[in-house]
Amino acid sequence: RQVQVGLPDIKGREQILRVHLKKLPSTIGVDVRALARGTPGFSGAQLANLVNEAALFAARNSKQSVDMNDFEEAKDKLFMGPERKSMVLREEERRATAYHEAGHAILFHVLPDVGPVYTVSIIPTGVGAAGYTMPLPEKDEMFATKSRMLQDIMVSLGGRIAEEIIFGDITTGASNDIKRATETARSMVMKYGMSEKIGLIAYGNDDDEVFIGRDLAHTRGYSEEVAREIDGEISRIIRECHENAESIIRENIGVLHSCAALLLEKEKIHREEFEALFTTEKEEVAKTNE
Ligand code: ZN
Repeated sequence: RQVQVGLPDIKGREQILRVHLKKLPSTIGVDVRALARGTPGFSGAQLANLVNEAALFAARNSKQSVDMNDFEEAKDKLFMGPERKSMVLREEERRATAYHEAGHAILFHVLPDVGPVYTVSIIPTGVGAAGYTMPLPEKDEMFATKSRMLQDIMVSLGGRIAEEIIFGDITTGASNDIKRATETARSMVMKYGMSEKIGLIAYGNDDDEVFIGRDLAHTRGYSEEVAREIDGEISRIIRECHENAESIIRENIGVLHSCAALLLEKEKIHREEFEALFTTEKEEVAKTNE
């Protein structure tokens, strides 16, 4: 995108946006600075257009107030034209995110040492996540036990597993989860002596956590064989956690569907609504068994 001379700078865009936003009945949660930052190269007329389009999106969704989502939609439309394609993609993304977060949430709920679930959301966050599941830890986290760490890994894998089950395909949205799961498994093997095969030897120190075993073999002088065993143990832990987590999600497939549906409808749900899904599901199952 070429920026032409004479177009408003970030301060100018902010001022222009404020003038147009004043005409709207309600703009709760709209971050004018963020909007100004995200619209380089927009002329005054285009900014006015952006505000109008956002208001139209809000109206179309029967919302009382124009929010940042409406501005995202409006920006997409102005940048990419009013193609339905982008809307369809967005809807697919929402569905994938809803199932992904529902997968995390089910594991938080079912596994004994993590959770309970406080919030599940498919509202994109500022840090680039498509959604999030937030637990409300009730237990003392001073000491991470082996079973607690395994449960953490299972929770991390839950989003991706739900996508695999439902879509037979995975999005890139799970990459942070995989990283987190791998890091936990690596700490278990290399730092806490939680792998019987590797034993009670701490390999590397805290600074080395970014390396995989094979890298350590080069930088630290461990034998290739030890490095391979470390990698093998990390893979085994991940694989076993994946299997266990998958069977839990499959056992709760009804909740997976109802949770995803509720998220698509409300975008954000809280503890009681989420836990009620398990009760409803139990009643449904009891009914069909009668
Ligand atoms: Zn995730």
